[in-house]
Amino acid sequence: MRVILPSAYGFCSGVRSAVSKAMKASREAEERALPCLLYGDLVHSRAVMDELCALGMVRIDEPSDSDPGILVIRAHGIPDEERKAFIDAGYGIVDATCPVVLHSQNLIRSSTHPVVIGHEGHSEVRTLLGSGEGVILVESENDLEKLEKGIPYEAVVQTTFSIPDLAAIMAKAGELGFDPRLLNDVCPASHQRRDALSELIPGCSCIIVAGDPGSRNTVELWECAKDLGIPSFLVSSPEDIPEEAFSFPVVGLTAGASCPDTLVQSIRRRLEDGR
Ligand code: SF4
Repeated sequence: MRVILPSAYGFCSGVRSAVSKAMKASREAEERALPCLLYGDLVHSRAVMDELCALGMVRIDEPSDSDPGILVIRAHGIPDEERKAFIDAGYGIVDATCPVVLHSQNLIRSSTHPVVIGHEGHSEVRTLLGSGEGVILVESENDLEKLEKGIPYEAVVQTTFSIPDLAAIMAKAGELGFDPRLLNDVCPASHQRRDALSELIPGCSCIIVAGDPGSRNTVELWECAKDLGIPSFLVSSPEDIPEEAFSFPVVGLTAGASCPDTLVQSIRRRLEDGR
């Protein structure tokens, strides 16, 4: 079997920087004999979280989950009130929020009528909703009924939202006469990985997407391959590769923005070994 990789896959700059800040914080905490904590999942990757936890870092969700120490904020950020609660409880903060998400937070803070277009419960969307007062969440065209006529809404989209779904929501908003001003766009890293995958597909008989099912941009890559009509599988480890995948002569292997290269290479080796 031949395995080919696209021109862009795996760690984006935001994830690379977050992992590097977490590693540095871990060393500092060890020197100062402090606990080193992670606010939620640093990035949506079990492989990355396992590696950080093996260094002694502990994942927490609220101040009462640990004695105060050095707290690393995840790449998808933290709602303002929760950040304050950690600081008030005595935690030192290492902010690993991706600059793209920080920019979205600032857009919300400076907007008078902010709307977030994103998936309810997603960590980045929780951060955005917690970055201003009265922020309205729109997840689908149905949610547009939450908006009122005559208000100059400004919309900030989740960085990994589906581009076709965003276009459909904006078109429907226009039809209904809301026409919110879109202040940002989905993250270029998501675009690049999707475009590179589309270029790869004509030369492949199957696509493997490496990454975590909890990672939105990974699932988007998988959906993109399925929409283009090619057999495709989402795998989180070499052991996850389904038997069927080994029957294809040429496999395209890509990876979500939070998937470490060590995992991509171990999946590649197993595919090339053919078992
Ligand atoms: S995908 Fe974009 S927004 Fe998300 S962490 Fe990477 S660079 Fe930041």
